[in-house]
Amino acid sequence: MKRVRKAPVRTCVGCGRSDDKRDLVRVVRTAEGHVTVDPTGKSPGRGAYVCADQACFEAAARKRRFDSALRVRLMDDDTDRLARELAHALTASDSSRQGR
Ligand SMILES: [Zn+2]
Repeated sequence: MKRVRKAPVRTCVGCGRSDDKRDLVRVVRTAEGHVTVDPTGKSPGRGAYVCADQACFEAAARKRRFDSALRVRLMDDDTDRLARELAHALTASDSSRQGR
């Protein structure tokens, strides 16, 4: 029997849409309890995914979805820092994709 190779799919905690893992941005909680954006998607730790879209991140943060997904309590400072990290990650992936 032939197996179909499917790309892994993850669900955005912001809008609830499922998408190809590669089109989502991973937010990871490390073993130290530090929450950070993980552009590689490979950092060890508990992860949550959002679309590569600032709006989804903001929706997720506002609804405290990261808190339940990552079992942490994010402070406003953390959310601000993650938003900046995400913006940076999005800029980086845009320029690599479009050669800007
Ligand atoms: Zn989304």
